[in-house]
Amino acid sequence: FESKLPHVKTTIFTTVGNLARKHGAIDLSQGFPNFEADAKLISLVNQAMVMGHNQYAPMQGYYGLREIISEKIEALHGHQYHPETEITVTVGATQAIFTAISTFVHPGDEVIVFKPAYDCYEPAIEANGGIPVLIQMSKDGYAIDWNLFKRKITPKTRMIVINTPHNPSGKILKEEDLLRLQEIVRPTNILVLSDEVYEHIVFDGKEHQSVSRFTDLAERSFVCASFGKTFHVTGWKIGYCAAPKPLMDEFRKIHQFAVFCVDHPVQRALVEYLKRPKHYLELNTFYQQKRDYFLENLDPKKFRFVPSEGTYFQLLDYTQLTQQADEEFAKKLILEDKLASIPISSFNVNHRDDKVLRFCFAKTEDTLSKALDILNGL
Ligand code: PMP
Ligand code: GLN
Repeated sequence: FESKLPHVKTTIFTTVGNLARKHGAIDLSQGFPNFEADAKLISLVNQAMVMGHNQYAPMQGYYGLREIISEKIEALHGHQYHPETEITVTVGATQAIFTAISTFVHPGDEVIVFKPAYDCYEPAIEANGGIPVLIQMSKDGYAIDWNLFKRKITPKTRMIVINTPHNPSGKILKEEDLLRLQEIVRPTNILVLSDEVYEHIVFDGKEHQSVSRFTDLAERSFVCASFGKTFHVTGWKIGYCAAPKPLMDEFRKIHQFAVFCVDHPVQRALVEYLKRPKHYLELNTFYQQKRDYFLENLDPKKFRFVPSEGTYFQLLDYTQLTQQADEEFAKKLILEDKLASIPISSFNVNHRDDKVLRFCFAKTEDTLSKALDILNGL
């Protein structure tokens, strides 16, 4: 048989996670919290099961959940998505992203992706016969060159993928970025896939700029979000996609045959939990404390860094320690020093010589302190 994805290997997160477990390493590689979710949320799921919400949910998602998602987006970004026709509950953001790409990318279509990038976009594009067009962000600062983006647009450009707050760099897109993007795509029929899974993890009083804030962008965008990230339950695999009706109608044609519907009791529980906005609005402060603890206690003679502006990831440049390539150094850290991280080359194309590793700080202070002892002792 002929593979559709001949270059794709098992994801870096699975490979490194397995290696970390095998060698008993402290794991700051894959992005997930090592502490429990709120007991209240867990008991709400249990309650929903006891109340008998154990059969299929509606294909588009439980209406009450779509309604409260719609209210939340409107309160935060001032854009109205109709819960009936413009929001679909998905199996995490991953399925929302895969489905949005499958819905509109035809064989031969080009999709622009900025690198470094989270690893699920390109395989989804290629599995649908599309062609990823990769644009490197600036080497220092991970900024997007919008003029370069404009030059890369061709009559075959179907979609552009953006991700803010950005995994792995921790950069956030500013209002000027989105205005520039809006201006460039306005005369085209290019769609936007906006991965906003870290929307509630933004630091230093900055604001998350959702594409839904920009009217002309919103009308051509799929916004993908994840409750796994927001409520410390990555294992529940639940998120949603919001898009204007004509796009969502098509999205649902694929969604209904890929998964049909999503875990019902969890959807019921989330409705209750979302009624208190503090459950997500306090996440910024919660993770900023973790970022600050990690960076304030790190030896600056060993690592260079720009503090993460959002997400629960921090990049560290280790040039001052060694000239080893990042994959090699990450492996040595696991095997010899018992600390796992993700080499940046796994998100990259060109900057193969970057001496940068990604660390997840969604961990207890005890775990972070052990990791710091290892890093500072290198
Ligand atoms: N996008 C980005 C940028 C991510 O880091 C992740 C990983 N959590 C996802 C999407 C996937 O989210 P989910 O676990 O909800 O599928
Ligand atoms: N988003 C997580 C990360 O970047 C990984 C999730 C996954 O392994 N699919 O670490």
